[in-house]
Amino acid sequence: MTIDIANLPTAESRRAMASPMFADVAGDAAVSFEFFPPKTEKMNETLWDAVKTLEPLAPRFVSVTYGAGGSTRERTHATVARIAQETRIPAAAHLTCVDASRDDIADVANAYWDAGIRHIVALRGDPPNQGGKFVARDDGYASAADLVDGLRRLHPFEISVAAYPETHPEALSGASDLDNLKRKLDAGATRAITQFFFEPDIFFRFRDAVAGAGIDAEIVPGLMPVSNFAAVQRMSAMTGTAVPHWMERLFEGLDDLPAARQLVAATTAAVCRRRSQFPFLHAEQSRAELCYLSFAGTEAKGMTPRETLLAEAAKRILITDGAFGTEIQNRKLTESDYAGSLGLSHDQKGNNDILALTKPDVPEAIHRAYFDAGADIAETNTFSANRISQADYGAEQLVADINRESARLARRVADEYAAHDGRPRFVAGAIGPTNKTLSLSPDVNDPGYREIDWDHLVDVYHEQATALVDGGADFILIETVFDTLNAKAGIMAVKQLEAELNRDVPLMLSMTLTDLSGRNLSGHTIDAFWYAVRHAKPVTIGLNCSFGATQLRPHVKALSAIADTLIMVYPNAGLPNELGAYDELPQETAAFVHEWAAAGQVNILGGCCGSTPAHIAAMARAVAGIAPRTMPVVETRMRLAGLEPMVIAA
Ligand code: FAD
Repeated sequence: MTIDIANLPTAESRRAMASPMFADVAGDAAVSFEFFPPKTEKMNETLWDAVKTLEPLAPRFVSVTYGAGGSTRERTHATVARIAQETRIPAAAHLTCVDASRDDIADVANAYWDAGIRHIVALRGDPPNQGGKFVARDDGYASAADLVDGLRRLHPFEISVAAYPETHPEALSGASDLDNLKRKLDAGATRAITQFFFEPDIFFRFRDAVAGAGIDAEIVPGLMPVSNFAAVQRMSAMTGTAVPHWMERLFEGLDDLPAARQLVAATTAAVCRRRSQFPFLHAEQSRAELCYLSFAGTEAKGMTPRETLLAEAAKRILITDGAFGTEIQNRKLTESDYAGSLGLSHDQKGNNDILALTKPDVPEAIHRAYFDAGADIAETNTFSANRISQADYGAEQLVADINRESARLARRVADEYAAHDGRPRFVAGAIGPTNKTLSLSPDVNDPGYREIDWDHLVDVYHEQATALVDGGADFILIETVFDTLNAKAGIMAVKQLEAELNRDVPLMLSMTLTDLSGRNLSGHTIDAFWYAVRHAKPVTIGLNCSFGATQLRPHVKALSAIADTLIMVYPNAGLPNELGAYDELPQETAAFVHEWAAAGQVNILGGCCGSTPAHIAAMARAVAGIAPRTMPVVETRMRLAGLEPMVIAA
């Protein structure tokens, strides 16, 4: 479709479409819009302005809402009929069955059909008195599923229904709400449009849950561009939509600055929309320009690393890399190889992380070997690149340089491989636990003693994470978590960094078990660990190091069942022999992890101590073509964790 920019109806749309950033948008991506039927002549004019403004985006359809209890019956009909007659945009009419008999519904549906309307958004609706409870009439429909069935018997309408990523407020449970969605689709609906949401992850988790429930109909993400935060809070309270804290922060102090609020609203909607293929914008006609901006502006930005990882992980099981330590040891480097010309006073032999500055060809060759083996993710060689661990080598002042250079190196190699075959490659900035612990005393005679305190560890991690992100890391991977409190200090540091950068810095968290009963050194079980860190919304949670894959089996299964995020597991290549070497052959490790993949328990696999590029290649081959794990639908409950988890029943 070509756009006649000079003849666009408003200055804003002309400006937007004239800009090269928006120029290629129309017809390129699909979007649909929702309008309210206008109450006054003035609102009617606004509606037609909006329709004309949005028409160049070639919407898939626009729909017109149906006021609570049928209060807008005539106006909805008139508006949708006019759109159908006077524009080339396919028009859909909402229809609810509150306070209506089957005959009333048949009258409305027949009138729609006669007016040429072929698409109905069929909803149960809410009673007109706010907060009132829906009561089905004896001669009416009991639910939206019933209504869909009734409409299909009348005419071969295309029917869309509602879906609720955060569960409908009246639903008995998330699972029963999904059953209800299935009933509506089985009754003859072809697609579901979701209630609005503000965090893209919420939608993607829901879409996974829908797929897990065996539903393959199209799920259209519903977005709500809003510039009035108080109204957002009010509506969200009614619909059970979570309003993120960052949104409140963004609108803070803008009450008297409507233009700034519009920009914030457009950007916020854009963030959600960016990952949504065919979004539906819940919008009033008065927000048409806002929709336009949020829609168009997003095309230029591309997906964030979190979004790209989730999108890739939805397609296949991803592979992260293997061990660095054992690979470096195999190269038998001398002390001068490590020390280079930095002039440090301490012996540097064994300071693997400093190689980013002194012998970068070594970590680069290892990254290449793992990418050649099939890895999607490179972990930076920075496990001990923090002030506490580097103090052993007198290299604390180099921490920022080591991390930045390691991340740059991994980024460069990752981008090179991605450019070569078009498959995204990711860089995870690796942060180890340090050799100090916040939870335990190193002095058996003084259980209250600690070598470090919380604030110090947060600062240490903050320095490392800042440099890793500066160097180009996509994620911060807090790994080998033997002390949950240390990990929480890492989380705090990354959250501080997010606030400073004003952007998402996705976390990957990986616990290590120190005994076969399935606890880490601070005593947490795997489920207690998850409940203690879930608030950080990590993009992955999982296990690494510990023992070999066989010993991890029950713990991977347990975590997979409860964690509503990606699961990443990278075990050691078996248990070390008496000389500390790892004997497990690549095909043996691959066979173990294949079991997890086949059981649908993992999203990302790789190796820890003792694993080699051959192990990673064998794993990649073993899981190729196996469907990735889908995330479980987790009931909303209060979940607490001491060393053991505690779930408080509703
Ligand atoms: P249903 O699918 O019937 O579900 C309602 C509740 O009942 C759910 O909790 C469901 O889990 C439960 N339920 C249903 N059947 C069963 C069963 N057999 N066993 C157990 N539980 C069951 N409202 C308007 O008034 N006008 C509009 O134009 C309008 N447009 C909307 C557009 C979209 C995209 C969305 C998402 C909502 C819209 N709404 C509209 C709001 C909607 O009417 C309300 O959310 C209403 O509360 C539920 O309608 P529904 O079609 O989802 O109902």
